[in-house]
Amino acid sequence: SMASPALLMRVVASAYSVAEKAATIVRNVMSAGDLGIVEKAGPNDLQTKADRLVQMSICASLARKFPKVTIIGEEELPTDDVTEDLIEDGHCEEILKKPCPAQYTGIKEEELVIWVDPLDGTKEYTEGLLDHVTVLIGIAYGGKAIAGVINQPYYNYEAGANAVLGRTIWGVLGMGAFGFQLTEAPAGKHIVVTTRSHSNALVNECITALNPDHVIRVGGAGNKVIQLIEGKASAYVFASPGCKKWDTCAPEAILHAVGGKITDIRGNSFQYDKEVKHMNSAGVLATLRNYDYYASRIPNTVKESLVP
Ligand code: AMP
Ligand code: MG
Ligand code: MG
Repeated sequence: SMASPALLMRVVASAYSVAEKAATIVRNVMSAGDLGIVEKAGPNDLQTKADRLVQMSICASLARKFPKVTIIGEEELPTDDVTEDLIEDGHCEEILKKPCPAQYTGIKEEELVIWVDPLDGTKEYTEGLLDHVTVLIGIAYGGKAIAGVINQPYYNYEAGANAVLGRTIWGVLGMGAFGFQLTEAPAGKHIVVTTRSHSNALVNECITALNPDHVIRVGGAGNKVIQLIEGKASAYVFASPGCKKWDTCAPEAILHAVGGKITDIRGNSFQYDKEVKHMNSAGVLATLRNYDYYASRIPNTVKESLVP
């Protein structure tokens, strides 16, 4: 008989189903019409009922199956008991059937850290820019993002009333990433994707210095990394603090699984140990290809303004 699947593959297979349940909650809260918006740090740092319910759903569902894994979610919530209707106990069979990369077969629960952004792009969600929204579940081991799931609840929403909404992208380092068509950005063009709702002078100064052919301003770290792997943009550039470890962990694992690169603006890689500072204080620079081209053009003045 087959040996039982490695822990990492069981976690990814469960995270896949948990993210699909999360997407259903995101759509249901929106269609019910009461977003229950709360300001956290200010008007550009929001939390909705969907952020709250999804975080409870993801964290409680994964904690029940993998009680010794460290799970860190974005939202600070009261530790009320989570209602049973929020629990997802399924998993994706197809993922469980795939062999675990050899370097990860011995991982134990205590060694994993799961970074959860229940709803990335909340500001855009409240403004009806629904395809900017993603659910992010990133899996880290030894301080590195090694696997991730990105669910896009409103993928296909412009295709009409009968279209199937949503998709789930997942990946593991050493295995690849699935659920989308890897596409190169247009050759010889520099298309920068950046924040839509968290711009400032430094963010804009950095983009101007890159002299791009085109700038795309959209919400969400997950959404922006999707733009990279689907060839819509050639670099994700965000020269500002604001983005956190739960924003970058899942996108990083998927981008690295297909040969891309993500660092802070100064070129430092992100760490995902459980004790690490949550804020990515020195911003984000990510590409699928030609990382060095963009990294070499970030002005020193911009780098020196951002302290890791
Ligand atoms: P954005 O590209 O603006 O959608 O940001 C990507 C992620 O980082 C989202 O989860 C944002 O909420 C978060 N973020 C970026 N900048 C800020 C900020 N100044 N305040 C709060 N959250 C931020
Ligand atoms: Mg986020
Ligand atoms: Mg969020």
